[in-house]
Formats: sequence, C-alpha cells, structure tokens
Amino acid sequence: MRLAFYAPMISFLHSLPARHGIALAAALIGGVSLAALSVFWSSDLAHVFTLRTVLERGGAVTETRYNPIGILALSMLAVAGGSGVVMLGRLVMPLVSRKPRIDADRVASVSKTLGRELSNVLAVMRGDIANREAYARALADAQVRLGRLPEAEQVRVIVSLLVAENQRMRRASSDDKNKLDACAREISSLEANLRAAEEATLKDPLTGMGNRRLFDEAIERAVGESNARRTPLSLIMCDIDHFKRVNDTFGHSVGDEIIKALTRIIASSVQETDSVARYGGEEFVIILPGTDQRAATAIAERIRRHFGAKQFSIRKTHEKVGRVTASFGVVEHRPGDDVEMFVQRADAKLYEAKARGRDRVADYSDHSTA
Ligand code: GH3
Ligand code: MG
Ligand code: MG
Repeated sequence: MRLAFYAPMISFLHSLPARHGIALAAALIGGVSLAALSVFWSSDLAHVFTLRTVLERGGAVTETRYNPIGILALSMLAVAGGSGVVMLGRLVMPLVSRKPRIDADRVASVSKTLGRELSNVLAVMRGDIANREAYARALADAQVRLGRLPEAEQVRVIVSLLVAENQRMRRASSDDKNKLDACAREISSLEANLRAAEEATLKDPLTGMGNRRLFDEAIERAVGESNARRTPLSLIMCDIDHFKRVNDTFGHSVGDEIIKALTRIIASSVQETDSVARYGGEEFVIILPGTDQRAATAIAERIRRHFGAKQFSIRKTHEKVGRVTASFGVVEHRPGDDVEMFVQRADAKLYEAKARGRDRVADYSDHSTA
C-alpha cells in the first residue's frame, strides 16, 4: 500500500504530547489494581459492587448482573492497551516512515526560536537602558544634594549612597552580560541550524548535488555577474540517453546508480566555482563562470567520454548492464541574453545532440562530437 495512505496517522502520532506516557502508566496501574480487586473481592463483596438489572417479558424474568469494578478495570486496561499501541506507533513510525521532515517546517521552527531569542536580547537591552537611566538619576540627585549640604558627614553619606548605587549597577551589568552571552551562544547555534536547513532545501537527495531551486538562484547570479563584469559564462546541459530503456530493463535502482555515477564524473570534472544541479530526472546542468564555449565544450566532451566508457554491471548479481551514454548541449552567454533565453539555447543544443544521434556534444561552433 502507498506510504501516503499512512500520512495522516503518522502526523497524528508525531503530534501526540510526551505526557502520554504518564497517562498510559496511570491507566495500566489503575486497570491492573482494579482487576485484582474485583477478582479478590467479587465473592465477599459482590452485593456491594454488583449492579443488577431485572427484565420481565411475557412472564419470563431475565436477570443480568454487572460488576462495575470489573467493567472499570476492563475499560482502563483497554485505554492502556490503546495508549500502548499509540506509543509503540510513535516509536516505530519514524523508523519505518521514509518521509523526511519537511525542511520548510524546520526553517519555520528555527526562525520562531530565533525570534524568541532576539526578544530576550531586546528585553535584556531594555533592562540595561533602564538601569543606566536609574543610575544617571541617582547621580543627578546626589549632585543636587551635595550642592545643598556641604557638611562632611552628609557628604560621606551621599558618597556611600553613590558607592552602593555603583555596586548595584555593576551587578546588574554582569547579570546582563551573562544573559547576553547565553543568548549569543543560542543564536549562533540556531543560525548554524538555519544554514543547514536552508542548504538542505537546495540539495537533491539522490545525488547530493544542487536541485532545480539552487540552479535557478545560481544562474540568476551568474548571468548578473557576467553582464556586470563582462566575463565569459557558459552553460552545459546534459541528459542520459535512452534512460527509460535502462530503467525498464534493469530496474529503477540500477537507474539510480547510473545517475549517481554520472554525478560523480561531473563533480570530478568541474571546478569549485562551477555549479552543478540536477535539472530533471536524468538531466543535469553545469554553470561555468569565467569559461568560454570552447573550454566548456572540452569539459562536456571529457564528461561524455568518461561516462560513455564505463561498463556498468549490477553489483549483487554481476549481471552486465553495459555502456550507457549521455548527450550534451553547450552554450556561452551572449550580451543581452536573459536567463530564460540562455537556458533555452542550451536546451535547444541538447535537443540537437539528441537529434543527431545522441552520445555527442552540440555547441554553436557548428560541429558535433561523437
Ligand atoms: P532520451 O535519449 O531521448 O533522453 O530518452 P530517455 O529514455 O532518456 O528519455 P525520457 O525522458 O523518455 O525518459 C527519462 C526517464 O528517466 C524516465 C524516468 O522514468 C527516468 N527517471 C527520471 N528520474 C529518475 C530517477 O530519479 N531514477 C531513475 N532510476 N529513473 C528516473
Ligand atoms: Mg534521457
Ligand atoms: Mg530527460
């Protein structure tokens, strides 16, 4: 059955509060105690604890006896059993459920905590300001009183008042510093969490490469920079050939391994400054800032040869899958190209490589390789 069928149950189980365990334990203890009570006492105290219903129908008398304690015990045991199943579900479901926690939820929860921490910082700062205002008022007051009362004893009293106020201020400052330090530590750990969650939303889970979202952001940035600095920028678009056939013949998991193998080859053929993203199922894009078409075509050609030379086989059964090829479209950014036009031209070149027989690189130099 599809996993989605269980989604409402899984989310319900996730939403249950931790105090559920206490309720379960209480119901269990209560149920067992009452069951024992009803067994031990049923003979002696049956008249006290027994409900009796008498039905008269057409002269026939039907008498039904209930043991309320027994019923209560059974109910509590049923509640305990139900709670046990739910608790077990809570333990087991995360293990069997492959549904990843939605990153958007994670980001939202971290943002909420971050907001709370920032409110704490603001509260500490407001407290600090209030303290400083009180200190300034105490100083001003002392100044007025000093002007009016010049006697030595009174000066001594005022100075000691000032010393006490100063000590209070130092204590408050030290408390505030500790609170702010704790907030700063919490905030930096939350920021790290937020960064990790944000990165996860830009990653393709199968290959660990960027996903379509990362590509959309990276290409906007790269085109903007190329326009501003007038530096070359190239784009490679690649797609595995007849991949449906591979999946149909050898299965989806073999297909996944081949996608991962292509990813590894791409990753080892590009530089840190290049961005690789999974554009679709078996389609990848590589953004190459500072690279002209000629150099980009050479890179695409290297990837094509390397990938096409691999003999794939199924690890467990050693069954031969054989060679799998890929086609490539390469374009260099032209002044005036917006992102859409740039990507569309790369797509058209990839289509051309496919149309010319696949396992080749097509670019604007009017030659194709195979
Ligand atoms: P072409 O040479 O024209 O590209 O042919 P093709 O069969 O590769 O193209 P098509 O677009 O018809 O098929 C792509 C296939 O890729 C279909 C889909 O089942 C498969 N696919 C998409 N994503 C994945 C994935 O994550 N894993 C696996 N194993 N297969 C995938
Ligand atoms: Mg394909
Ligand atoms: Mg495709």
